[in-house]
Amino acid sequence: MPINSVIVIGAGIAGLTSAALLAKEGAHVQLLEAHNQPGGCAGTFKRGRFVFDVGATQVAGFERGGIHERLFRHLKISLPEAEVLDRACLVDLGDGLSQITLWHDYKLWEKERRRHFPGTDQFWDLCTQLHEINWAFVKRGPVLTPRNSWDLGQLLKALRPETMLSLPLIKSSVTDLLKLTGCEKDTRLLHFLDLQLKLYSQEPANRTAALYGATVLQMAHKPLGLWHLKGSMQNLSNSLLSAFKRDGGQTFFRHRVVSLKSLKESGLWEVQVITPDRKILQFQSEEVVCTLPPQCLLNLLPSEGDIRKSYLKQLSQLPQASGALVFYGALERSAIPAGLPSHIQLSAEAPGPLFISISREGDGRAPLGQATVIASAFTSTFEWCSLPDQKYQKQKRLMQVAMTRLLEKFLEIPNHQWLHQEMATPRSFARWTGRPHGIVGGLGQNPSQYGPFGLSSRTPLKGLWLCGDCIHPGEGTAGVSQSALLVIRQLLAQRGVDLHVDY
Ligand SMILES: Cc1cc2nc3c(=O)[nH]c(=O)nc-3n(C[C@H](O)[C@H](O)[C@H](O)COP(=O)(O)OP(=O)(O)OC[C@H]3O[C@@H](n4cnc5c(N)ncnc54)[C@H](O)[C@@H]3O)c2cc1C
Repeated sequence: MPINSVIVIGAGIAGLTSAALLAKEGAHVQLLEAHNQPGGCAGTFKRGRFVFDVGATQVAGFERGGIHERLFRHLKISLPEAEVLDRACLVDLGDGLSQITLWHDYKLWEKERRRHFPGTDQFWDLCTQLHEINWAFVKRGPVLTPRNSWDLGQLLKALRPETMLSLPLIKSSVTDLLKLTGCEKDTRLLHFLDLQLKLYSQEPANRTAALYGATVLQMAHKPLGLWHLKGSMQNLSNSLLSAFKRDGGQTFFRHRVVSLKSLKESGLWEVQVITPDRKILQFQSEEVVCTLPPQCLLNLLPSEGDIRKSYLKQLSQLPQASGALVFYGALERSAIPAGLPSHIQLSAEAPGPLFISISREGDGRAPLGQATVIASAFTSTFEWCSLPDQKYQKQKRLMQVAMTRLLEKFLEIPNHQWLHQEMATPRSFARWTGRPHGIVGGLGQNPSQYGPFGLSSRTPLKGLWLCGDCIHPGEGTAGVSQSALLVIRQLLAQRGVDLHVDY
């Protein structure tokens, strides 16, 4: 192996995937994690008999050839036990009309969408065509966003005449696709798209890039799909961690990185951490893969040097990312209407649309006969982080009441039936994940900053690499795994190693 040492910062899904891929190639990898457990936004916590998924509650990419499946096969570990969501989501637009089911079965979904959005076949057909072009393109391993000749070579190699057909839409939004197909007057469809796209792109339809949106709208349906993990989301990170350790990787939990410095004499990176007993330690390596939101570099890197200054300026101008409000509750299962799917999206004015996840009987999250209910909504982080303590606590209580009321009304839960309830705000996420102001979900996938126009995994600082949800293709455990694969391919290619992960 022509590379000796790599430090990976952060043991979320992006960091674990990067670290496991590198260790399998024989690199000496040290994984530094501030928390006492792996998983980050896809981790879990326990309250008595209940297990709660902190953020991610469902995963894409478990189908044959999907990103998690490919990576697990490559790493020679089994995928965690999971079941495909045959009804991926029930969407209630709050308009008094019937709810929309996102079926895994494509024929059922086609029938469902025709019933709810008649006369919009042209829009859906265009999305499917664009998705098929995108998917074939992605399978050929392009580098987005390219920064040097190797990256550009990979990108050009992946292009085909049919890829060019999607080029005229490179700067369009999903709303432009609606206009192009004459469907822009269907306000119910637009409302549905706004809700669904926000979950993936952080943006509504008029600000979601058409080429990105066309693909994420297929996520729930065959041949793709969404999966519910048995036990908890933690199993995904635990499996990756086991592969990493098996291949000789070293993990340092409760080691918070506080600074990054490149040493002039040796060309190595020096990474400073604070240990659990408040000691400062230094680690050194040839390469550093940083999986934290890139805004963290503003505090971690010293600002001297022209390249550094202009790069830090670019990072300081990144748009504000969203935060999340998450309610974690538990109930007797009999208090919840029977027959609901485990994921529901509910349109609501305040605190905004809710994404609800209900545990399945016997899935390991609650004792038999009981269920966990998690509901999340997007929020602005700045608002929460700037509140003085007392006001913050009051606001948090008000939000908890608002979210429980919404859930009680929608799920027809009799009052005072909760066995457990608590709230997380951007402040909680800042504490749990170390993300500045509790930003989650990465940068919005809008036409000016997705894919080819996004932040590159290759930084201008030699030996410093980025991956995670701010790098193409964005958030989600599948998205950050894809970004990890991309950055490790780039890093290894620089050392003359061609990493190939089979389909
Ligand atoms: C409420 C919510 C719901 C979501 N739902 C879904 C879903 O259903 N499906 C889905 O696929 N995705 C979902 N996501 C998104 C998904 O969870 C994330 O995109 C993904 O897990 C991010 O992984 P990551 O490794 O890039 O970052 P993170 O998970 O944030 O990992 C970064 C790691 O770095 C560590 N760290 C931070 N600072 C330091 C430091 N200074 N030193 C050392 N370590 C540090 C953190 O502790 C953390 O473990 C959701 C996210 C949220 C917040």
